[in-house]
Amino acid sequence: MDFIDEHLNHIKDKGLYRDFKFFTSSQSKYTSIDNRRVLLMASNNYLDLCADDRLKEAAEKAIYTYGVGSGGSRLITGSCKLHDQLEKKIADFKGAEAAIIFNTGYMANIGTITAISDQEWIIFSDELNHASIIDGCRLSGAKVVIYKHCNLDHLQEKIKIHQGKKRLIVTDGVFSMDGDIAPLDKIVELAKENKILTMVDDAHGTGVLGDNGAGSVEHFNLKGDIDIQVGTFSKALASEGGFVVGSKSLIEYLRHKARSFIYSTALSPVTIAVSLRSLDIVKNEREPRVKLLENSKWFQAKLRKLGFNVLESKTAIIALIIGNAAKARKLSEKLFEEGIFITAIRPPTVPDNTSRLRITLMSTHNRKDLKFALERLKKAGMELDVI
Ligand code: PMP
Repeated sequence: MDFIDEHLNHIKDKGLYRDFKFFTSSQSKYTSIDNRRVLLMASNNYLDLCADDRLKEAAEKAIYTYGVGSGGSRLITGSCKLHDQLEKKIADFKGAEAAIIFNTGYMANIGTITAISDQEWIIFSDELNHASIIDGCRLSGAKVVIYKHCNLDHLQEKIKIHQGKKRLIVTDGVFSMDGDIAPLDKIVELAKENKILTMVDDAHGTGVLGDNGAGSVEHFNLKGDIDIQVGTFSKALASEGGFVVGSKSLIEYLRHKARSFIYSTALSPVTIAVSLRSLDIVKNEREPRVKLLENSKWFQAKLRKLGFNVLESKTAIIALIIGNAAKARKLSEKLFEEGIFITAIRPPTVPDNTSRLRITLMSTHNRKDLKFALERLKKAGMELDVI
């Protein structure tokens, strides 16, 4: 077992060791970590709904009707009425015929890609796609062709070289570590011209982008143009669980073929009830979304003015590039001491030498919160020679 200690020592030397931060209160913009009150700027809870009373009430009601466990996988005893309601509701929200719920977004990607493709397929995948897409592609046995991040010329070049009848383009809608939006309109054009299937994982666009919050596909006005849409209830929707929406036959097919759907115990009715309620809230409340994106624009401009290297983002995710992994971690630790929680994201999650602070904003952050964060970021950034 020596290789284990060797590996742990190696990652410690490189500043890549990872540890937990334990929350001791609910996850809102001000939260407690190890009993210390901090301003949270690292959560995917973009609309600050994790501790919303309406969601707690929905959870409580479900507990008294359905109990807590689901008792089995979806096709055995794990499906209650709420699962059916949520599948209909998310399909409607996304403007698709049907939907299927997986236990996580990770399982949705793996289950879908492996159900659809095999050795006869060619998958064109953006180089910055989420790990669950990468793992799904690898598991499927398909030939995977990586194209440069959001680079349509490169994608087109690859499409020309790799001809075949069974082809799929897969991309994140919003890239989780950079915060940029995939050029879905252009991707769809290319896919249609070349008769290629399209799949978009909109984990970070759902609830954030589009007039109704339906995500990056709505943002580009492409409802009906993407063959397979994946998402998760675990981010802006403040719950848990992944989903796939698409045609009725696609969803029926996944029900029979997606192994991560078939062979895992269903999500609890409590979680499903929370997702149902939060979908209603997100659909009906536009203002928090507008505020969130305004916050992001304002905050990015201020960070750049201070001299930080900030990637261009039109979403709630702001990547503040540091480069060196140990330095990024140090900056995160310093900020924590100053009362702000922002995580350092390091390889292998992001490419070598692009370690960063991944700032995620919430709709409830106000100017006072953001000014406080800027002041502390400036201080810590100067102390560590980042700016
Ligand atoms: N896709 C993307 C782009 C993600 O960022 C994530 C979450 N990290 C997932 C899928 C997985 O979703 P979940 O957390 O529900 O498994």
